[in-house]
Amino acid sequence: MTTYTPTFDHQLLERLRGAVRGEIVEPGDPGYDEARKVYNAMHDRRPAIIVRAVDAGDVIATVDFARDQGLALAVRGGSHSVPGYGTCDGGVVLDLGLMRGIRVDPETRTAWVEGGCTWADVNHATYAFGLATTGGMVSTTGVGGLTTGGGMGYLVRRCGLACDNLASVDLVTADGHFVTCTAEHNSDLLWAVRGGGGNFGVVTSFAFRLHPVADILGGPTFFPLDSDVIRRYRDMVGEADDDLGALLVVGLGPPVPFLPERWHGRPLCGVIACWTGSQDEDDRIRGRLAAVGPVLGQYLERIPYPVINTLFDDLVPPGLYHYWKGTFTQGLSDGAIEACVEYGAATPSIQSVTVGIPLDGACHRVGPEETAFSYRDADYSFALSGTLTTRADCEAQKDWVRGFHQALEPHSMGGGYVNFIDHDDQNRVQANYRANYARLRDLKRRYDPGNLFRLNHNIAP
Ligand code: FAD
Repeated sequence: MTTYTPTFDHQLLERLRGAVRGEIVEPGDPGYDEARKVYNAMHDRRPAIIVRAVDAGDVIATVDFARDQGLALAVRGGSHSVPGYGTCDGGVVLDLGLMRGIRVDPETRTAWVEGGCTWADVNHATYAFGLATTGGMVSTTGVGGLTTGGGMGYLVRRCGLACDNLASVDLVTADGHFVTCTAEHNSDLLWAVRGGGGNFGVVTSFAFRLHPVADILGGPTFFPLDSDVIRRYRDMVGEADDDLGALLVVGLGPPVPFLPERWHGRPLCGVIACWTGSQDEDDRIRGRLAAVGPVLGQYLERIPYPVINTLFDDLVPPGLYHYWKGTFTQGLSDGAIEACVEYGAATPSIQSVTVGIPLDGACHRVGPEETAFSYRDADYSFALSGTLTTRADCEAQKDWVRGFHQALEPHSMGGGYVNFIDHDDQNRVQANYRANYARLRDLKRRYDPGNLFRLNHNIAP
């Protein structure tokens, strides 16, 4: 194990201690090993210092400290980054996990969400008012990384990406300035954080537009892993109202009570539905799902919206070993479906799930240059997640993910959603932003010429 001995400027460190109201954790402190852990157990790193910020002042002080010391700076929101960008060896971790305040204004349908919140925090706070906005599929994922990368989930077809719902952000830039970014002020930075990831600064607060979403008809329906089933799923999505979120999942049957035991651990596919339309239409939606194929098991109930975002939390707790890739497809070609069936049958573990998220509807109604997120003509975003409970078979897991990705390549659009790609995909960052890359690079040169925010899918200045 490498031990990093930080060579801090004593005065700067003392100034940081005086400026920060949150916690500062260093090697040798009792909480150090807990504080340095990130969600993906692949990354066992030893930062020189971890600052657990409680407010924007702490964030500014930490950004100034890392920059002036010339140290790497890892910004951590919910800690879910698969490439482990929320940690580093020998540098500074700015952990926003104590910044979890939320204020909801039901009149203007706006939620102000601090930079370290998870989607569980947001869904809980907004459900009380019968409101919601697009978040991720797992409630423990951070708002920070998910939103700045784009943000896909059950509500995308109806409400757009998470970043499409951003009215404004408060941002600390590389020079330690605090700026509020709206459509009128610092609009170029608001544009950049709507898909450009953590490249432009630390968001201390997000203002999200909310939509009337309270109880929904939702849950998984499992089918045999068969290309005709996936074709019928594709047809269903093609005809469905935007109020139907319907994610395709391919993997091994999870050990859940509503799936007969003989299917546990066996390849299958499924549709995770989230119908936010009228309850009067529930039976029509049930019928439509039943027409996709022979139902092996189903949990499809009227549930509060926050519940659907917790259904898979237990399947993917922190501490597993993740390696992912992502790709976009236009339509769902027969070739892509065949690749899903072939590689789905070889899924390495119950935790490894391939997810296809339909991106049409509201997501298509935003132009490719209106936000940094450019793939507005993609119909599906695929996450190929190789996830294991031990490190032992990690090489085989990576081979499976890479092979699957290669098999999908001829049926894909190039690039890859920054939140679903891994560290070895840095060379795909430019392709991910397509025509927006040049503008992003210009903004990076202007706001972060020294590339302080480089532990991310990096847009080099
Ligand atoms: P962190 O590791 O804390 O941060 C990742 C990066 O985000 C950091 O490098 C930093 O640059 C940036 N960042 C974080 N917070 C801030 C902030 N406040 N200001 C500026 N930059 C910040 N993605 C989807 O779109 N939809 C899903 O449904 C979805 N489901 C997922 C489920 C699981 C189990 C996992 C592991 C990931 C999932 N993802 C999903 C991918 C997810 O969006 C990314 O992993 C994202 O980076 C996680 O954000 P985080 O804040 O939790 O991560």
